[in-house]
Amino acid sequence: MSIAMISTGTELLRGTALDTDGAFLGRELVSRGCALDCRFVAGDAPEDICSALAAALKRCDSIVVSGGLGPTDDDVTLESVCRFFGAELLVSETLREKVSSFWARRHSGRCPKRQFRQALIPAGGVILDNPYGSASGIGFDTLYGGRLRHIFLLPGPPAEFEPMAREHLVPLLLRYEKRFRATRGFLAAATGEAALCRLVADALKDFPVEIAVTAQPEGTRLYLSGEDETTVSAAIEAARRAVGSNALPENETELFPFVGRLLLEKNRTLATAESCTGGLVAKKFTDVPGISRVFLGGVVSYSNELKRKILGVPAEILETHGAVSAECARAMADGICRATGADCGISTTGIAGPDGGSAAKPVGSVFVGIRVADLCETFELHLHGNRMSIREAAAARACNFLREMLS
Ligand code: ATP
Ligand code: MG
Repeated sequence: MSIAMISTGTELLRGTALDTDGAFLGRELVSRGCALDCRFVAGDAPEDICSALAAALKRCDSIVVSGGLGPTDDDVTLESVCRFFGAELLVSETLREKVSSFWARRHSGRCPKRQFRQALIPAGGVILDNPYGSASGIGFDTLYGGRLRHIFLLPGPPAEFEPMAREHLVPLLLRYEKRFRATRGFLAAATGEAALCRLVADALKDFPVEIAVTAQPEGTRLYLSGEDETTVSAAIEAARRAVGSNALPENETELFPFVGRLLLEKNRTLATAESCTGGLVAKKFTDVPGISRVFLGGVVSYSNELKRKILGVPAEILETHGAVSAECARAMADGICRATGADCGISTTGIAGPDGGSAAKPVGSVFVGIRVADLCETFELHLHGNRMSIREAAAARACNFLREMLS
């Protein structure tokens, strides 16, 4: 038993869009104690979809296909998949009604005939409800190569695919592909994948659990799966002890939402003053729904002039120590708290590259300032990678420093 995902769309092959649906499903399955076994990307033509299906079916019994369920002529997934398996396509009255009412909500006039392509379903298939778009998801079982196969078709737009995968697809896949009874995870903040595996190896060696890790800029997520919840929870606790203070609590796998809740619990407000991260820290906090209760806002003070004017960084600091310095980071964190009245401030200043490094401050040198009430601390980082990964890592590490100071 194994699972394949086929993402369709010529734009995915050309690289003008990334297959985030496939990545999302992979992560979602790992977090539930399961896994994707292979992923394919196919162009929009029927022959592309059929050859990906043939390849996926060599190994897998559950096949997820995303994209190409729209009403236009280039959306051929449903027809191609049904023709491949010899499945008969029927009109579903439920879907006919859904298609017309969805159309009426967004447009005026009569619903065009082509929209009703989205009312077709293979005989014996089930509808996977999609409240976010007009194409519904479809699941059906079929025999292929003497084995029963489970086929799922979902719309491609991530805003539709992701909630549908979480709500409908993953529970169905787990029914067929259940590997473990219990899965728990946590984020080891500011910890790389190899370091995490080293840290937990001893602690976990006597637990009958399977380990899955996913590396993120925020740190590494560790998921443990096993046959019963007590064992898995005990293993998680052992792993958390081995990781130490960088371990988030069980089932906390996202750093920024966790720190947002920590701020709320401690009744603290936050503002950011960012230079090298260019607003990434503020972006990541504002990705969190409900964050307005604690996050006041931030400035991107990229130039020295703005650091001086808006944040009140003294000219002597900029002249003596430079903008990329602990002193400047401290003055920025102090300045943003002063300017906004926030209890907590995060500042970042550094060299994201590729140019601008020196022997004393090479590319990847970043200073972070964290203010929590009357306490202001600075941290020096030496990060590696390209411009984007340095900025991502700096934003995540800054958030983690705030977490440490708040705890
Ligand atoms: P629609 O009704 O919008 O046509 P659809 O199921 O036919 O839905 P597509 O036409 O394949 O979906 O894709 C719609 C949009 O979703 C495109 O912008 C496409 O780039 C994006 N998209 C499709 N597949 C993926 C994917 N695997 N990952 C991320 N984005 C995707
Ligand atoms: Mg498409």
